[in-house]
Amino acid sequence: MKPDAVIVGAGFAGAVSARILAEGGKRVVIFEKRPHIAGNAYDYLDENRVMRHEYGPHIFHTSSAKAAEFLSRFTDWYDYQHRVLGYVEGKLVPIPFNFTSIETVFEKERAQRLESLLLEAYGKDRKVPILELRKHSDPEIRELAEYIFEHVFKYYTMKQWGYTAEEIDPAVTARVPVLCGYDDRYFQDSFQKMPENGFTAMFEKMLDHPLIDVRLNTEAMDHLAVLPEENRVLLDGEEFEGEVIYTGLADHLLNYRYGDLSYRSLEFEVRTEEGRFQPVTTVNYPTPEEEHPFTRITEYKNMQKNPPEEKTTIAVEYPYAYDRRREKGNVPYYPVFTEASKQSYEAYVKVLEPMKNVHLLGRLAEYRYYNMDAITDAAIELAEGLLERS
Ligand SMILES: Cc1cc2nc3c(=O)[nH]c(=O)nc-3n(C[C@H](O)[C@H](O)[C@H](O)COP(=O)(O)OP(=O)(O)OC[C@H]3O[C@@H](n4cnc5c(N)ncnc54)[C@H](O)[C@@H]3O)c2cc1C
Repeated sequence: MKPDAVIVGAGFAGAVSARILAEGGKRVVIFEKRPHIAGNAYDYLDENRVMRHEYGPHIFHTSSAKAAEFLSRFTDWYDYQHRVLGYVEGKLVPIPFNFTSIETVFEKERAQRLESLLLEAYGKDRKVPILELRKHSDPEIRELAEYIFEHVFKYYTMKQWGYTAEEIDPAVTARVPVLCGYDDRYFQDSFQKMPENGFTAMFEKMLDHPLIDVRLNTEAMDHLAVLPEENRVLLDGEEFEGEVIYTGLADHLLNYRYGDLSYRSLEFEVRTEEGRFQPVTTVNYPTPEEEHPFTRITEYKNMQKNPPEEKTTIAVEYPYAYDRRREKGNVPYYPVFTEASKQSYEAYVKVLEPMKNVHLLGRLAEYRYYNMDAITDAAIELAEGLLERS
C-alpha cells in the first residue's frame, strides 16, 4: 500500500514529524541511509560500557515546555548540568570565562580588582559579550577582554572554522560572553536533562508505531525523484501525491544542480583510557594549532548516569573542511555561510517553492543550526499543520 507520507531521515526532524503524522492516522515510510536511527543524536553503549555519542556530545537543554513534554512521552530523564573547561596557559578554567577563571589565571590582587570592576560596571551574574568589554572606558577591563579574546576565542575559532586570524570577523566575538559571577554551567535553561537510556532508546520508542515503517541503510534518492519543473514526485517510479518531508541536504535532493552547500566537518579520534581522563565532559583547547591540532576532548562517561569505573572512552575532535567526495571530512556538521553558499541555498528553496507537498525540515534541509529542542518544536509545528490541512 502506498504511504500517505514519505520522510527522508530518522533524526529529530524526521522521527518527531513521523510520530505526529502516524498518530493522526497517516501511514509513514522513513528512508534512512545510515544503519541506525536518531540522526546525529545517535548513541550506544560501546565496548567499555560507555554511552558514546557517535557524532559528538549531545546535551538536551531547553526552555520550551512543548519540546520537553513531547519527548518525555518516550523517555524518562536524569539531571545533568553540562560544564566545560578550557586549557588556558597550562591550566583548566571554566568556559564561559567567569570569576573562577579570572582567579585561576591572574594573581589574587589583580583578580579581585578585575572582579570588583566588572561587578561595578555590569552587576552580578550578568553575561557580557567581549565586544562590549573591549569598548569599555576602563583600560583594565579592555585589557581583560584582549586576554580572553587571545586565550579563549582566537585560536579556537581559527581551528574550528579554518580561518586565519585576520579573517575573524570582530562582530563574531560579540557571542563570546564573560560571566560576572561563579555560575560555571554551560547552559542556563530550566530543563537540562539526559534521556535515561540514551537518545537512541528514546527514538526507538518514538518510532514504534504500527503506521511507521523505517527503512535503514536506504538512500532516499534511490526511491524518490523530486521534479520541480514538472511539479511531480515519483516514488519507485510511480506518481506520488502524498507529503514528502525531506531532512537531508538540500543540494543532494536536487543532484547539486546549483552547486554544493558549504559546511564544516569533524573527525573524532576515539580512544580507550583507564579510569577518569578529565574532570568534566568537555575540555576545550583554545590553543594554537601547533600546540594542539584539535579543538576539544570529550569524555562521554562524565555525562552518563551509571558510568563504568575501570575504563573510559574519549573522543578528540578535529575540524575539517567538508567534502562529500573525500575520505575524511565527508559528514556535514556546521553550515558555513559564504555568499555563494547562501545564494545556492536560496536557489534550491526557490525552485522547490511551487511544490506544496515537499517540505524541507531540519538542520541540513533548512541549512541552519538547530538545537534538538528547536528542531523538535519545528517538526511538531510542521506535522500538526499538515494534519490540519489534510
Ligand atoms: C557536534 C554537534 C554537537 C551538537 N550538540 C548538541 C547539543 O549538545 N544539544 C543540542 O540541543 N543540539 C546539539 N546539536 C544539534 C543536533 O545535532 C541537531 O539539533 C539535530 O541533529 C537535528 O536533527 P535533524 O533531524 O535535523 O538532523 P540529523 O540528526 O542530521 O538527521 C538527518 C538524518 O537524515 C538522514 N539522511 C540525510 N540524507 C538522506 C538521504 N538522502 N537518504 C536517507 N537518509 C538521509 C541522515 O543520515 C540523518 O540520519 C549538535 C550538533 C553538532 C553538529
